[in-house]
This record gives sequence, structure tokens and C-alpha cells, in this order.
Amino acid sequence: MVPTMGALHHGHTSLFEIAHQQADVVVATIFVNPLQFNNSTDFEKYPLQMERDIQLLEEHGVHYLYNPTVETMYGSGFSTSVHIGGITDLLEGASRPGHFSGVATVVTKLFSAGQPDIAVFGQKDFQQFAVIKRMVADLDMPIQLIMAPTIRERDGLAMSSRNVRLSTSARLEAKAISQGLSAAQSLFSSGIRESQQLVEAVESVIAPTSAAIDYVKVIDSASLQDLSSVSQGSVMVVAVILDGIRLIDNHILV
Ligand code: AMP
Repeated sequence: MVPTMGALHHGHTSLFEIAHQQADVVVATIFVNPLQFNNSTDFEKYPLQMERDIQLLEEHGVHYLYNPTVETMYGSGFSTSVHIGGITDLLEGASRPGHFSGVATVVTKLFSAGQPDIAVFGQKDFQQFAVIKRMVADLDMPIQLIMAPTIRERDGLAMSSRNVRLSTSARLEAKAISQGLSAAQSLFSSGIRESQQLVEAVESVIAPTSAAIDYVKVIDSASLQDLSSVSQGSVMVVAVILDGIRLIDNHILV
């Protein structure tokens, strides 16, 4: 199973390819989940392109599409929420209250409906993967999770359904995020281990743009806690608001 919110791009289709390598039958889900949007404008403006999405699913040999309505998912009287403690209070969870409960609730329902053996999610949403991994372990869900690498535009911007909403000038500026992450990787490769120096490297590349930084951090890949001293496998995470649009990215230091 590959859960998505539609407006499919190469990031999503790469997940279908990985799913095909692991499974005989690949199910995609498309559901723009109102529970995980803490900003109603973001929900209302979320891009929809169902005809094109179905074409992409066919081109990538996806066997089944589950595309439920909001009414099907959250009918009258719906009262259940899946809350994962700890790691949901940080980073995206701190800036988007309720977001991860919305994600966990919908993913639980999608898993329940589809009963997948394997589910594929993108590294692009690193914290989301950590939350789902925690949930699957804690609730004894018999599902193998696969984290797929982030697919990027030519200039390095991580592909996202939200990118189409960026103005031309903001779209040009957006490449600073991945450039900042590359600058941090270069420092790490040259032997720098102090997290503050890596954070400043990312911030200094983003600073000249009109993006407002929400956070730039180096975190432990399991606990998601801030690190003062970094090592291979530590994760640089970035969130900015550019042109009114929240953009996130991350890089696992190698
Ligand atoms: P979304 O439709 O944005 O909710 O994303 C659905 C799935 O696709 C999630 O597992 C995301 O992490 C993954 N995804 C989104 N963008 C990318 C990308 N650029 N590269 C790889 N996976 C991605």
C-alpha cells in the first residue's frame, strides 16, 4: 500500500516502483485527509487532479486505487483519534498541533481497510515515517514499513504537491533549502561535528531569500531529539514558510 493525498508527482510514482519490487499487488490510496490539516486554507487550496492521477496510476501499473470520500472515512458520530506520544510534540508536531494525530488516525483506517503486508512512505516526511513506525510497533500492526528516498526537482527542491502553489520567484528561491542541506553535508564531510555550525550553514543559505525559517535542526534519527554533536546517520531537518506555503526537507548525513 502506498498512501497519498493525490496531486501525484515523481516522488509518489517512485514509491509505486518500490512497492512493485516488494509486492505482487500494489494499492494506492488518494485521500486529502481533513484531520491532518491544521490550517483550513491549506486544506481548501490543496491541489486536486484526479484524472491525471488515475492516468499516472495506470502508467505505473498500480492495481487498485482506494479513493474514499470524507463521509466514508469520517461518517456521522466519528469520534476516534489515534495519538502517538512524545515524538509528535516536536518539529512538525510543534508547529502543526493535531497534525500527527490526523495522520495516525487516517493511516490506521487505511491499513484497516486495505490490510497491507507492506506500506511504503517517503523520507521527505521523515518525522511522519518515525510516527507511523512507532504506531505500527506499539499497536502490533503486522505491516512492514519501507522508507523511500526523496525525489527532487532538477534544482534540488524536494518534490511536493504544494510546489505548484509557489509563485515563479518563490519557486526560484525554494532551491535554497536543498542547497543549504548540501552545504551542511559538505561541512560534515570536511569533519565538522558541531551541530550549531551545520545549522548556521543551512540558515545562511536560506537567509537571503524571502523564506521565513520555522526550524533548522540536526536530530537523532530514532528519538528525533536535537543533537549538539552529530554523527553519520544524524538527520538535518528544515521547515520554512515561503510565499505562504510550508515547505519541509531533510537530509541524512553520510
Ligand atoms: P503526500 O501525498 O504528500 O501525503 O505524500 C504521500 C507519500 O509520498 C508520503 O509517504 C510522502 O512522504 C511521499 N512523498 C512525497 N513527496 C515525496 C518526494 N519528493 N520523494 C519521495 N516521497 C515523497
